[in-house]
Amino acid sequence: MQLDKFYKSVLANFDKAASKTDFPSGLLEQIKEPNAIYEMRFPVKIGNEYEVIHAFRTQHSQHRMPTKGGIRYSLNVNADEVKALAALMTFKCAIVDVPFGGAKGGIKIDSKKYTESQLEKITRRYTVELIKKNFIGPGKDVPAPDYGTGPREMAWILDTYEMFHHGDIDAGACVTGKPIEQGGVAGRTEATGRGVFYGLRQFFSHQEDVGKLGLTTGLKDKTMVIQGLGNVGSYVGTISQAEGGVKIVGISEYEGTIYNNEGIDIFEVLKFRQETGSIMGFPGAEDMENRDDWVAIDCDILVPAALEAQIHNENAAKIKAKVIAEAANGPTTSEAEKILLDKGVVIIPDMYINAGGVTVSYFEWLKNLSHMHFGRMEKRFNQGTYTKLVELVEKMTGKTISDTEKAVLVKGGDEIDLVRSGLEETMINSYESIRALYNRRDNIKDLRTAAFVYAIEVIANDYLKLGIFP
Ligand code: GLU
Repeated sequence: MQLDKFYKSVLANFDKAASKTDFPSGLLEQIKEPNAIYEMRFPVKIGNEYEVIHAFRTQHSQHRMPTKGGIRYSLNVNADEVKALAALMTFKCAIVDVPFGGAKGGIKIDSKKYTESQLEKITRRYTVELIKKNFIGPGKDVPAPDYGTGPREMAWILDTYEMFHHGDIDAGACVTGKPIEQGGVAGRTEATGRGVFYGLRQFFSHQEDVGKLGLTTGLKDKTMVIQGLGNVGSYVGTISQAEGGVKIVGISEYEGTIYNNEGIDIFEVLKFRQETGSIMGFPGAEDMENRDDWVAIDCDILVPAALEAQIHNENAAKIKAKVIAEAANGPTTSEAEKILLDKGVVIIPDMYINAGGVTVSYFEWLKNLSHMHFGRMEKRFNQGTYTKLVELVEKMTGKTISDTEKAVLVKGGDEIDLVRSGLEETMINSYESIRALYNRRDNIKDLRTAAFVYAIEVIANDYLKLGIFP
């Protein structure tokens, strides 16, 4: 059987990294292949017709429980794609120190073809199939949004799960990415994009790394091209522009690509697209003749934030960017990666740079199990302590701090502040761990291999300590 290009790349990348470790081959085999694959077909009544829906859920690794990963709705969903995505989830969780194994689900549909209530029917029926086979539960397997799904679908999954688990006090932790009113956590929707921003900022903080690329430290005025203005791409763009001072010079969506070397205001583009349904014709930029030319736009940072295998052996040579931040899962095929590495391009790999989503999902899961929002216990207490400190400083110095400054100094953390702080801490620490390994090991020549080796070490040591491979 012809393996999906994407899965093939994930396996090739794994093998490349595994060969740089000393773990027993049987253990590496266990870590590489998915543990459980559930491929299902179920009927749903759409209008007067019965439609057979084809769907999947794969649990890649159960070295830590529950397993975790999103559910995507797309016509491209297939067994190999779900396996590749589930494997990436395992490595992602290990890298950002989230205590889960990896999983992924997918329903092979074009969601644009269905009404909201038809989508609800499909989602609920899919959830029932997962329940029947023990493929969902707060301690078993916890889905989340992915391409084509969002908080709305997660709320339907939650409600269906709760119907079958009446009285289970932890049922709310069976899925993450829920609306805030249904137990979601503040900052989950922006989390993947914000994580990409924190990761990039950390990469650009090391003079010796960016200097080799002919770049200066700091994100300010760095040029960026974004492919895909979905949930991930739009947050990468808005946060990088607003908080990092990045200049966005190109944006690509399925309707086409726009560019402007002087910079494009992403907030205006998002508004324009909402009003007109397209980025084409945006007054602050020029339309490109060929949509696929997004790869060739001159920039410092290229952010593929759409689907897998977008950078392949036919377009990789055209890339002018110095850094690629893989906001999407698997956007670069392994053949393309070879071409890019030879050109000296740095690829910040998906399994690290887009792990902000699952990191904040972990925070949501913890919130659901503790049955309390973050900050509720300590916010006012901290504010009281900081106020006393500020008063003491005023008394000792004989100077008065302005009310505006005081408000900033004494502020206790709300849930959104704490979530962002936890995400920032995670993205900084994880990058430094991967970078340290990359710098320590002469036989590791790229960040993806470093990230893979790091993840394999974490997972293999878990297995070894569990005593499965004595
Ligand atoms: N679908 C997201 C990913 O690929 C998030 C997964 C999660 O939050 O569990 O990382």
